[in-house]
Amino acid sequence: MSEPLRDGEELVRRWWGRAWLAALDTSAPADARRAQQGAALFRRGAVHDLQIAPGRVTGHVVTDRAGDVEVTAEVAPLTDDEWEVVTHLVADRLRFTAGLLNGVLPVELAERLEERGIALLPGPGALRPSCTADGRGACPHVVAVHRAAAVRIDRDPSLLLWLRGRPQHRVLSDVRAARGADDDVDAEVVDLGDGALDVARGDVSQITVHPERSRDPAWLVRHLPPPPYLDDVEPLTGLFERAAEAAWRLAAGDGAAGADTELLLAELRARRTAGVQALADALGRDPAEVRDELDGLYEDGAVLRTGSGERAKYRAVDV
Ligand SMILES: [Zn+2]
Repeated sequence: MSEPLRDGEELVRRWWGRAWLAALDTSAPADARRAQQGAALFRRGAVHDLQIAPGRVTGHVVTDRAGDVEVTAEVAPLTDDEWEVVTHLVADRLRFTAGLLNGVLPVELAERLEERGIALLPGPGALRPSCTADGRGACPHVVAVHRAAAVRIDRDPSLLLWLRGRPQHRVLSDVRAARGADDDVDAEVVDLGDGALDVARGDVSQITVHPERSRDPAWLVRHLPPPPYLDDVEPLTGLFERAAEAAWRLAAGDGAAGADTELLLAELRARRTAGVQALADALGRDPAEVRDELDGLYEDGAVLRTGSGERAKYRAVDV
């Protein structure tokens, strides 16, 4: 019997550990009590012999009533084709390799995998848990083992790779092989070739950078458990999307005015219809300036307007 795990959920701090916790859905009212009982079992160190292996997590829970209960949660390993995608994505970005070597799972790596239909972290419902006392479903024993696994995965994200079928050293050696086969990869990543730093002579603006637009800025928000102070994460995902939109306008060189306009339109879209004062308040801008900008957008056909003067309401035109 290995050392019992006594750490609490508060020790799960990193995004992938929190996302792992969220993968076991105990949000239904009927599950609340089982989740509490499971958390209590976990806290008192009832979980032992936790094992994370390709395709499954297993663990034992010592209980007063049911004796020693074995828990299994199955997760489908990635196919060889899917591993091929993982290898090439990691090979394509030096910082992905650097992250994995430093015990970090880069969020952008998970996002890019998901864009290709590969969920490295099991989403809600993807775990198929069962226990020898209760059969299938999220019983207290399953919850306890799931938490113990979260603590371990939080500390060592390479366990996620192992769970999906391959040890990290294998993934990294495949990445090295893929890089060797494609010599110009590094040049694409850092684009400082041709002596760019020498030519620049201290002028940073001489260095070409290639900002990339985030395709899903609120990805992480949706993959973490809801923050304790929010009932609904929708406003938060909207905020991330609007901030990313503004950041992109700045990065793309449209300047602060372009970013302001984009933010104004994003706010208007989020509210469906709104008046000048509400938009100015939401954006912390001067109402007269917001009105001028909205009237300009109205003339350009980018927004619709009903009413006039103080009572005018605006609505974004669907694009
Ligand atoms: Zn059980």
